[in-house]
Amino acid sequence: MSRPEKFIIDGKRLDGRTPDQLRPIKIEVDYLKRADGSCYLEMGKNRVVAAVYGPREVHPRHLQDPTKAIIRYRYNMAPFSVEERKRPGPDRRSIEISKVSKEAFEAVIMKELFPRSAIDIFVEVLQADAGSRTACINAASVALVDAGIPMKGILTSVAVAKVDGVLVLDPMKEEDNYGEADIPFAFLIRGGKIESIALLQMDGKMTKEEIKEAINLAKKGAMEIYQMQREAIMKKFIEEGENE
Ligand code: ADP
Repeated sequence: MSRPEKFIIDGKRLDGRTPDQLRPIKIEVDYLKRADGSCYLEMGKNRVVAAVYGPREVHPRHLQDPTKAIIRYRYNMAPFSVEERKRPGPDRRSIEISKVSKEAFEAVIMKELFPRSAIDIFVEVLQADAGSRTACINAASVALVDAGIPMKGILTSVAVAKVDGVLVLDPMKEEDNYGEADIPFAFLIRGGKIESIALLQMDGKMTKEEIKEAINLAKKGAMEIYQMQREAIMKKFIEEGENE
């Protein structure tokens, strides 16, 4: 993939979207039978699966916290998920993504209800096309709800990039790789409203005004994703009710 000459032509991006438009999203709840909660999610060309286990006993026992549950989050990219084969196993990037995502979920999961236990969140990227960490957080949130883990709200994640001096929502690969800046966000949404920012990472340069504008654009995208997460969860519970 080489750097495109222009990212925005006649107000449209390389994939035909307007700057404030998300990529198509598909969410399937309860995707895996063995996990306590699971979700398959597509965000553009990203394809990810999240599996949640717990609350369950922590092994080894010295890792137990007598006051609350420990949260573990593992982000992993399949070797076939990117253009060039990725070396299997953890690398600096996946360790960093796992750490910041875990910290974001620690802010929403009601850990104090489950002392000495662990809540394990596994996310697997089957196909990556920029924003895979945001797709994984969105899938993990739905899987946590599916597992019945008590939370203060739900995390919804989306990035904003700057290309040709314009802020764009939910960047795809070309915009992410060759853009001037990129900020993945995760918001805590409670009672249908954005309550706080649970994750914000930045790479590149933006002015103070642009950062404010990026936050507003990301909030708008997050509310749209939140509605889709909600619909997917409701659909699952309605279907379950009908099958009883
Ligand atoms: P995110 O996927 O959250 O945007 P990055 O910004 O680090 O994370 O990566 C952007 C994109 O670059 C990824 O979605 C993926 O398409 C590609 N990429 C990341 N790591 C690798 C790798 N080891 N090999 C090839 N492509 C990669």
